[in-house]
Amino acid sequence: MFEHLQALPADPILNLMVQYRRDNNPHKVDLGVGVYKDEQGHTGIMHAVTAAETHLLATETTKTYIGPAGAEGFNYHISRLLLGNDHSAIKDQRITVAQTPGGCGALRMAAEFTAKCSPDATVWVSDPTWANHIPLLKGAGLNITEYPYYDGETKGIRFDAMCSALETAKAGDLVLLHGCCHNPSGADLSKVQWDAIAELLIRKNLIPFVDIAYQGLGDGLAEDAYGVRLLADKAPEMLIASSCSKNFGLYRERTGSVMVIAPNQQQAAVTASNLFSIIRGHYSMPPAHGAAIVETILGNAELTKSWDDELTLMRTRILQLRHQLANEMVVTGCAQDFSFIPQQKGMFSFLGINKQQVGQLRDEYSIYMVDSSRINIAGLSAQNLSYVAQSLSSVLK
Ligand code: PMP
Repeated sequence: MFEHLQALPADPILNLMVQYRRDNNPHKVDLGVGVYKDEQGHTGIMHAVTAAETHLLATETTKTYIGPAGAEGFNYHISRLLLGNDHSAIKDQRITVAQTPGGCGALRMAAEFTAKCSPDATVWVSDPTWANHIPLLKGAGLNITEYPYYDGETKGIRFDAMCSALETAKAGDLVLLHGCCHNPSGADLSKVQWDAIAELLIRKNLIPFVDIAYQGLGDGLAEDAYGVRLLADKAPEMLIASSCSKNFGLYRERTGSVMVIAPNQQQAAVTASNLFSIIRGHYSMPPAHGAAIVETILGNAELTKSWDDELTLMRTRILQLRHQLANEMVVTGCAQDFSFIPQQKGMFSFLGINKQQVGQLRDEYSIYMVDSSRINIAGLSAQNLSYVAQSLSSVLK
């Protein structure tokens, strides 16, 4: 049965991690893997998470099954974190939420749900988009088409081209949008652009599908949810995939949520039964621990404040690093303009250098990033920032 299998190429990011680990240069810098890091390069556990875990260890009384939707308390809090406490879709009971194994689990369940409702629909994804979107959507059998998004020249969004492409989509197609902190480009829609996209999607009967994996790491918890809240207010039908991997630092605990918004309460009940049946056929029910942590934090005012304060520090640090990198590039006398870096949002930006220059940074300076030149801003620190800037400046000479 296995003899026809061909070995697949190694995942580029995992490959990079191996190379980085083997590198003995004391100045080596990892800007590859997409996890938040502190000044010491450590991906620590947030204080509120440790406090919640301590509480859970002392108070949990059972490990019995929880069902396909996961924990009700988690679903309650996460839907309010995403949409706000008084959102009309919540008040009108149009939403179905399920706790999922990470944002990936949410994306895949949303894709499977779409494949069941509308197998011929096309999902429009940004060019470029997060690499794993493609297998997650294709694995459910969906068709994918790209819409223009990032402009390597201006370092902004090709907004007119994006709108023109979406004007050609057929009614019932889905449009996958990054809620905030676009991965890999860091280029986000402005509020005015979100407003225009919402108008286009509603007018053309296109279904918004928002992936929000970095809420709180761009401009703030509410600010980063502008697009998702707007669309949930205007669109009769919508899908949302969210992740707690980055903003709660829960990566390996696999914590996320999928939300389906139906046109009315009756349709929502039908939606719920279908979504839960799809989940049952995949992993039956999600793991409990990460969601129990989030529920504990968001259900307690003191822990929520501690979490929010720490998230604010993370966001502020990323923004400072963005400014410092751009300033440092000026100090090195580099002719190339990097003033776009502090304009972009979240953990990632493209440096905009070519594959050969990326290779040179890796081979000559032990600075690691993926071939596209996407860097994890949080991998920068006070210790390595001027080294990175000088090295980058040298490969650009
Ligand atoms: N969407 C995007 C755009 C992401 O960058 C990520 C994490 N890298 C995810 C979803 C999901 O992550 P996870 O499954 O680890 O929660």
